[in-house]
Amino acid sequence: MTNDDDKVIPVRVALRCRPLVPKEINEGCQCCLTFVPGEQQPMQLHYPVIVGTEKAFTYDYVFDPTAEQEEVFNTTVSPLLCGLFKGYHATVLAYGQTGSGKTFSMGGTYTSAQENDPSVGVIPRVIRMIFEERERRTDCDFCLAVSYLEIYNEDILDLLCPSKDKPGLSIREDPKEGIKIVGLTERQVFSAHEMVGCLEIGNSARTVGSTAMNAASSRSHAIFTITLEQRRGTDKVDSVVSKLHLVDLAGSERQKKTKAEGERLKEGISINRGLLSLGNVISALGDESKKNSFVPYRDSKLTRLLQDSLGGNSHTLMIACISPADSNMEETINTLRYADRAR
Ligand code: ADP
Ligand code: MG
Repeated sequence: MTNDDDKVIPVRVALRCRPLVPKEINEGCQCCLTFVPGEQQPMQLHYPVIVGTEKAFTYDYVFDPTAEQEEVFNTTVSPLLCGLFKGYHATVLAYGQTGSGKTFSMGGTYTSAQENDPSVGVIPRVIRMIFEERERRTDCDFCLAVSYLEIYNEDILDLLCPSKDKPGLSIREDPKEGIKIVGLTERQVFSAHEMVGCLEIGNSARTVGSTAMNAASSRSHAIFTITLEQRRGTDKVDSVVSKLHLVDLAGSERQKKTKAEGERLKEGISINRGLLSLGNVISALGDESKKNSFVPYRDSKLTRLLQDSLGGNSHTLMIACISPADSNMEETINTLRYADRAR
């Protein structure tokens, strides 16, 4: 995925452990993870009884709680952007239980007031880098567009044009253009400032629901998509289109822990459907022996929508987010397993 390495590795997994948050420290939580630098599986649980029954977990990258946003971005996302400018589609997914750092990592609460803040996440950094690259490239014309949507209860909602009574949008497969979402706003943008504006509009429209686990937990998948069209040649007819999906997935926690009922329970079930089929798709893609076998894209809206950007000539990065607290150990192990299977 780097400049001199065009061999497509379909899925890479980065494991990121956030620091203990003040609430966990106040509640006397202990850190239950150790990181062993320089090893292929640089992280071990303190609980050998659990590790003893597991095979070793391995990931492409591991970031301990001291890792800064810049390091995570430069190591994992920036190579995907090089690919994007060469015409490859790319997808970045943040996975993990509610409160594990998905939105923090993706930069999903970014506002333009944070412009020089080193704690900003992936999306604002992507925007900055794309426009810097555009400045550098005088050999071709660029056309950039964004859309921002949310999948909530298997309904697709337009975050750039939110409307309470608008029914969910539908997915259509166009033989030429690939996956299309009928009626989704696609805004053409000419500056980083404009693109950040779209991010802000969408962020404020995101559906949040409260559960016993987290007062503002996000129960939906949010997908910010940047479409890059490059036109080369003197008459600019030679056009390459590549798409980048930046996905803040719904919390992966098990239903019972959130004490869900009624509406919440229905949400929980559909969220799991997306994450479950994503896991199946990604594991099918990563398995050489299954190379020509069936990939179950059609099992959920999430995987259908990402279909033409997962596998094939696309690069996928999953950032698996975990909490170091012993109180979250069960969910942490679930995430470690899910992410290990993805690789
Ligand atoms: P999620 O989106 O997975 O529910 P958040 O991104 O909202 O989780 O993170 C939960 C809390 O932890 C937030 O207060 C966030 O600022 C903090 N946090 C997450 N990751 C980090 C990190 N790497 N460094 C410092 N604080 C973090
Ligand atoms: Mg979040």
